[in-house]
Amino acid sequence: MATSTSRITSEIDFNREGKQVGFLRLPHSVHRSAYGWIPIPVACIKNGEGPRVLLMAGNHGDEYEGQIAFANLLRALSPDDVRGRLIFLTSANFPAAMAGMRTSPIDQGNLNRSFPGDPDGGVTAQIAWYIEHVLLPQCDHVFDLHSGGSSLMYLPSGLCRRHADRQWMERSLELLMAFGAPVSYVADAPQGEDRTLTAAAARQGVMHMGSELGGGGTLTIAALRAAQDGIRRALRSIGALADTVAITPAPQTNILQVRGADYFVYAPEAGLFEPLVDVGDEVVAGQKAGIIHFHDTPWREPAAAAFQRAGTVLCKRMPCRTERGDCLYHLGTPFQA
Ligand code: CA
Repeated sequence: MATSTSRITSEIDFNREGKQVGFLRLPHSVHRSAYGWIPIPVACIKNGEGPRVLLMAGNHGDEYEGQIAFANLLRALSPDDVRGRLIFLTSANFPAAMAGMRTSPIDQGNLNRSFPGDPDGGVTAQIAWYIEHVLLPQCDHVFDLHSGGSSLMYLPSGLCRRHADRQWMERSLELLMAFGAPVSYVADAPQGEDRTLTAAAARQGVMHMGSELGGGGTLTIAALRAAQDGIRRALRSIGALADTVAITPAPQTNILQVRGADYFVYAPEAGLFEPLVDVGDEVVAGQKAGIIHFHDTPWREPAAAAFQRAGTVLCKRMPCRTERGDCLYHLGTPFQA
């Protein structure tokens, strides 16, 4: 139905059995290439009936853990290892991924603020539309692996959205436990935020699990391991991987929640950010989180930012140079249903 209205065409047939790799072709007529297209890598492994899964990374191009974990998984799996179908979209915002940026260098589009997209819009809007209206309706599950990107470093975390539906919530928690990251968290849907992949999945009735794995514009051994081991366990738990695929037992994950604005700390001024706590630290309400130094007027007393509530530090800003309004930290607190 909606398939015919996207300008993006797929080199691979998602209904064919076996393993296929190729590109989604996004027509892009520019000065250096009149009839060219942007080659977004895509792969599909199908083996009969079973769970239909979209494995997505590179939604933000400067988040590398998922892009590498899914590439390794794609090369490792043969059709016999799969039950149902895995679609790999390893660098979803491909122009952003090739630039190592959160957003697209072509249209500045942030893919995770571009859903439901527009088949006649800019490059990023076209990718969003294709994911929401072509790929998601063919899937039961989507795993969208994120990390802190260039500006934040996270305690490696699995995450899901809080759902009013109890059964849906329980299935989400089971996925987090199977993924088995050091911590997991359940996030409230941000008020009025319907432009994310998470919101797109909800609109299409697709079960979503995400992550915030490390970040800082780099790749840590611990974050990559959490991604690689976690995705295999999560896929096994939904019946998408055969017993032939080796998995490691899930470590205990500490399930937290992230709720209102008081979980976040923002820079009160522009300057140089001196962190006073690290990811994983436990903090109390009123505790100083960081100090902003004024290198344009170094005789001025620095400004302090404090935590508004107690909690576990889930992420921390990485660049020292900071503008007013930049997120410095956010917290998690023990999950309550
Ligand atoms: Ca992200």
